[in-house]
Amino acid sequence: MENQEHQEIILKGIGGSPGICIGKAYLVDKEGVDVVKKYVIREESRSAEVGRFKTAVKKARTALRRIIDTAPEELRQHTQILETHMLLLEDKMLYDRTIDVIEKERVNAEWALKKVVSLVKPIFENMSDDYLKQRAEDITHVSDRIMENLVGADQVDIGRIDKRVILVARDLSPAETSQIQLERIKGFVTNRGGRASHTSIIARTLEIPAVLGVGNATLIIKNDDIIIVDGESGIVVVNPTEQTLLETEERREQYEIQKALMARKSHLPARTKDGIRISVMGNIELPEEVVSVLDHGGDGIGLYRTEFQYLSQPDFPSEEMLFENYKDVIDVMEQRPVTIRTLDINGDKAVNYIRDSHELNPALGLRAIRYCLQKPEIFKTQLRAILRAAAFGDVRILVPMISGIEEVEQTVNLLDEAAQCLEQQGVAYKRDVPLGIMIEVPSAVVTADILAEKVDFFSIGTNDLIQYTLAIDRGNRHVAHLHQPLHPAILRMIKRTCDVGREKGIKTYMCGEMAGEPLYAPILLGLGVDELSMNPQAIPMVKNAIRSFNTGDLGDFMAAVMRMTTADEVQALVERHFGAVVSTIEPEQQEQ
Ligand code: PEP
Ligand code: MG
Repeated sequence: MENQEHQEIILKGIGGSPGICIGKAYLVDKEGVDVVKKYVIREESRSAEVGRFKTAVKKARTALRRIIDTAPEELRQHTQILETHMLLLEDKMLYDRTIDVIEKERVNAEWALKKVVSLVKPIFENMSDDYLKQRAEDITHVSDRIMENLVGADQVDIGRIDKRVILVARDLSPAETSQIQLERIKGFVTNRGGRASHTSIIARTLEIPAVLGVGNATLIIKNDDIIIVDGESGIVVVNPTEQTLLETEERREQYEIQKALMARKSHLPARTKDGIRISVMGNIELPEEVVSVLDHGGDGIGLYRTEFQYLSQPDFPSEEMLFENYKDVIDVMEQRPVTIRTLDINGDKAVNYIRDSHELNPALGLRAIRYCLQKPEIFKTQLRAILRAAAFGDVRILVPMISGIEEVEQTVNLLDEAAQCLEQQGVAYKRDVPLGIMIEVPSAVVTADILAEKVDFFSIGTNDLIQYTLAIDRGNRHVAHLHQPLHPAILRMIKRTCDVGREKGIKTYMCGEMAGEPLYAPILLGLGVDELSMNPQAIPMVKNAIRSFNTGDLGDFMAAVMRMTTADEVQALVERHFGAVVSTIEPEQQEQ
């Protein structure tokens, strides 16, 4: 009889990044903290169990003290919260009560702690005072720390993993994901997250298969289990049978062959059948990724998410560091356009050293341009670095999360100030840089006619535009099914933006994930998008798709698309018209 432990299990999640990998699972972060087993301890082991609990608390205290004592000067003011955790560690409600439960109920320390936390947390959660309410979260942090010591699960430093494995985690932050070493990590699976989350975007850039939003992956998958991750279908197979392994290996080969065929022609320009050339650009988070854009045949950088440089270090980068970084990218791109997006932090890209207040709705909070305009010195440092780097290539500036004209005007003023300052200091720079805005907040679509008067181009960020228009958190797996790029509301918003752009004589680009879906190319060009920017690995497929149709023939199809009332209907329509052609590899096209 087959061992129950090794039965094949199929888990369904959200395809975060395409590709298939097979390998051993490696559980990261707080492994075991969620699954607490209860067992009765022997009479004579009672004091030893209490001792085990005290040791775990002591270890947590030592670790916290070390963090507080070694915090750099600028972070000192933020260590207050850790001091609170120190106090909570020894708080009677938590400490004494847990010992009490161990002694009276003769249960293991983990179970006793879990029981006490489940009693104490609601007391705080139900308090009317906001400050005290938030202490419920601190109790979780503190008990997690003790629990980690009890179950022996240390926090794993992803950068230090030295085996070829597939990561399995409850969640990975964008910053953690960007530490992944490609030669070691084959792919990853997370309980949380959605397709448009930054974690999933980075996985696509790194070209590693990822399945997100599995819900209970860390409970079902154990360390060293053999797993298959299919990032296209969003399926994870745990302990696959021989037959499944064979079939998967075949599919993986097919996928690689198809990818290689498309890659062969990725360096040729993308022209529609009627000869319209469309620039297909790459999105990057780190300068190292530029090579991947060129390797995949990208015509330039359509979105450089500069915030990742801020996320990966302990303090704000200096102007010099930023300048060097931008210049590196510009130099490698050799006069191809480089779109540098200004700082888009907070939301799901929080930087520890600037999180000075807790936000209940970070996506609607002090994010991106809102943060920059509140911190003009930090913003100006970046603007100076961009203007200096712009002297070396074809640079565009892109401002995220614009919701109204004042934000554009203030940005222009700060750009002028930065330029004046550079002028006075005799530093080389270029002021005449095209200024564009992300169209990702519904109010920007509605006021596109007003905004167009002040900017040189639009770039539609569908990831946020969908989040804010359809009111769905892009990282929340429970609403991931509602993240519908083809929703009639989104199509109408794209159309309006392009129509206004054309009327006002400015170009409309797209750099959200929607641009990287080959099947959407006829719709996007039909709506009037002038340029597409995407994860580098999607470039060959989108170029191939663009070559498969004639824009002159799109009229009736687009009229039908705009009559559809649901995303599913649009999907069915585009599949019927273009499903077969966009994935067929077109014969060689030469530069004319
Ligand atoms: C977007 O919102 O579509 C976008 C491109 O920006 P980001 O994903 O970095 O928020
Ligand atoms: Mg965005």
